[in-house]
Amino acid sequence: MAKEELECSFCGRKKPETNLLIAGLDAHICDRCIEQAHGIVLEEAKDINKSNLNSDLTLKKPKEIKSFLDEYIIGQDFTKKVMSVAVYNHYKRLLQPDTEDDIDIQKSNIIMVGQTGTGKTLMAKTIARMLNVPLAIVDATVLTEAGYVGEDVESILTRLLQAADYNLEKAERGIVFIDEIDKIARKSDNPSITRDVSGEGVQQALLKLLEGTTVNVPPKGGRKHPDQKFIEVNTEHILFIAGGAFDGIDRVISKRLNMQAVGFSASMSDDVIERDNLLKYIIPKDLKDFGLIPEIIGRLPVLTHMDPLDAATLRAILTEPKNAIIKQYEKLFDMDDIEFEITQDALDYIVQKAIEYKLGARGLRSLCEAIFTDAMFELPSSDTTEFKVDKEYAEFKLEKSTIKKLKAVS
Ligand code: ADP
Repeated sequence: MAKEELECSFCGRKKPETNLLIAGLDAHICDRCIEQAHGIVLEEAKDINKSNLNSDLTLKKPKEIKSFLDEYIIGQDFTKKVMSVAVYNHYKRLLQPDTEDDIDIQKSNIIMVGQTGTGKTLMAKTIARMLNVPLAIVDATVLTEAGYVGEDVESILTRLLQAADYNLEKAERGIVFIDEIDKIARKSDNPSITRDVSGEGVQQALLKLLEGTTVNVPPKGGRKHPDQKFIEVNTEHILFIAGGAFDGIDRVISKRLNMQAVGFSASMSDDVIERDNLLKYIIPKDLKDFGLIPEIIGRLPVLTHMDPLDAATLRAILTEPKNAIIKQYEKLFDMDDIEFEITQDALDYIVQKAIEYKLGARGLRSLCEAIFTDAMFELPSSDTTEFKVDKEYAEFKLEKSTIKKLKAVS
């Protein structure tokens, strides 16, 4: 066959009419047909994806969820249990086929109250990891009402889309962790003559999102403007987890408990109340007294608290979780064929310093960095095959480091 007579076996175009003609065994295909076929493949894949998504989501039972959390998070048993049930119910709701009865299972959005560094973000991350769903972590403090400087609440969904690699179906069953939710509490002493830009307005804007609605989301973020194409995101099946330290809420709780104790319905007397962990007794009304509007509280129906981290917990955090800090250093040194060892004394010393500097669990990492950095700098270029850290070494390195200055700040 003469060369110029070659043609696309699919559309029949002659070679000169195509940009490219690819030869197969007995046939040829032109660039246009390839494009078209590719389009079909993508469309088909989308449908398959949709039906695969549900089967991808392997839902563990609450006890299994808790065991998974146990591998990564120390303590916080109450929250783990509450979360396990809430997550289980949420995804059960999502996977349920449409039924005829009128029973609508409400969303199990969650609110976690606990000091900073107690593992709230870790909890949300671990849940997302277990479920293999996208997670967006957003800071409530940057959110403002539409029209003000800051981010619109829709930006939350932009983040989630990004976390899902713009796979809309995945994003729509993802998790959003809204950190510092307490910072958008209404200031009680704010007579709303001036608009409460960062507070109540944002809470109002969040309401719809939490409950389930369709939102036009600018895929690349930024302010909405008419030329930008939007992606419609339905938040119906997105699980929202809010977290906040709610500094000062212990006073609200304490006041309430005292009033209860004085009244006839005294159910708890002072000697059974754990004064150093008042968060334990938190109820939704306390959140309202702190400044969250009742509608928001209603849409975050699962309320839980994080316990403060004591020395024993901090000590366990250093070595026990699956990716514990010390295990990470072991691995790093191991990559340089250096055997890393740290004594119990040294570990206790790090914990003691974390408490002293009021650094919480987050501080454990900074302390370890301060102690190990010199070794991580020197040892890889030496012949050393062992690195042993005892209390004296840790003390010596910390004394020299700038981390000591943190003490003055806290
Ligand atoms: P929060 O969101 O409450 O401020 P994070 O989840 O960011 O706290 O925790 C800070 C760091 O401390 C994380 O790196 C985490 O690994 C560690 N951490 C905190 N609490 C725990 C815990 N209970 N178990 C294991 N690690 C923890």
